[in-house]
Amino acid sequence: MTVGIVGAGQLGRMLALAGYPLGLDFLCLDPARDAPAGQVAPLLRGAFTDRRLLARLARRCEVLTFDWENVSVAHLAAASRQHRARICPPIAALAAGQDRVAEKRLFERLGIPTTRWRAVGSAAALTRAIATVGMPGVLKTRRLGYDGKGQAVVHTAAQAAQAWRTLGGVPLLYEEFVPFDCEVSIIGARSVSGEIAVYPLCGNVHGAGVLRLTRAPFGPHSWQRRAAGYLRRVLRHFHYTGILTIEFFVQRGRLIANEMAPRVHNSGHWTIEGAVTSQFENHLRAILDLPLGATQPRGFSAMINLIGHLPARAALLAMPGVHLHDYGKQPRVGRKVGHCTLVEPTAARRDARAQRLLDELAVDVRIP
Ligand code: AMP
Repeated sequence: MTVGIVGAGQLGRMLALAGYPLGLDFLCLDPARDAPAGQVAPLLRGAFTDRRLLARLARRCEVLTFDWENVSVAHLAAASRQHRARICPPIAALAAGQDRVAEKRLFERLGIPTTRWRAVGSAAALTRAIATVGMPGVLKTRRLGYDGKGQAVVHTAAQAAQAWRTLGGVPLLYEEFVPFDCEVSIIGARSVSGEIAVYPLCGNVHGAGVLRLTRAPFGPHSWQRRAAGYLRRVLRHFHYTGILTIEFFVQRGRLIANEMAPRVHNSGHWTIEGAVTSQFENHLRAILDLPLGATQPRGFSAMINLIGHLPARAALLAMPGVHLHDYGKQPRVGRKVGHCTLVEPTAARRDARAQRLLDELAVDVRIP
């Protein structure tokens, strides 16, 4: 059975690596010659909008999935219609995940608390949005923003004018700046037949908009219950299939939805070693309508992103219990090139070891 992956980044690579033990084959589509998933699975090289390649993918695969949410909805929908390709997660969820305004409206419709926001299409609309939402705020591109790209924090009218000059020209969204206590994400899977499995809540630390550290399980049980409830609402709304992630700000115990990702997620990488079944395996089980695997944690996990370049492999692996994932990418400033994970029997031990590892790797994150 062959699974088609539109996008062949590190997420596609980890999906393929999780699928081989289940007897699955993979075929990827990506424009990059050195795409990480292309090093472990056959690769069709071309644009995500290449109709001929999408048709080939659809013909050769039982199901198509994607490892990046900025693939073309129109082209995937056309492939689905013309070649009766089954696309998971659903295209409607992908479309919502691509547009911050659609995402906010979805959260509001489903009663999931989110930031105060306004759509912004002109300098005058930005002035009106600031008058309604207030300052400080964050101006973000509606589309194609990721890892903190395409956004600017606004404290003053002068900064608003500067942000408009930098980002204006494409549809934007202005939202309140949330002075959060922490950030969390909830990840879960829904299978074709409607079975749902939710992972323990992840506590995430970002630097310059990029995820640096995830710890799981994280936070009190009440946060887990609420976040899982919100996730279930979105899963059911879309008759979703596959893994879905929602990220929240936590402010004085209140969960405020920031965004959702209709795919396996960076904050779920710890599940490879730290949960009974990884998010990658459960994504595959879900889209192939296989029974979902248990999401119970195997202990207390920490995942640290390796950004820019990989540290010396031997030094990292000399630390007991540390697992390394090298994505096979060329080093480049700001690029996610790998991650490492450790699993400990208690939260206190996990946090102490994670801090030592962060210091060792010269990552500027302090665990409170
Ligand atoms: P995003 O691309 O929306 O996930 O933003 C990347 C990161 O920027 C988030 O994980 C937060 O750390 C920060 N951020 C984004 N929006 C806001 C906001 N409205 N208030 C405070 N911090 C934010």
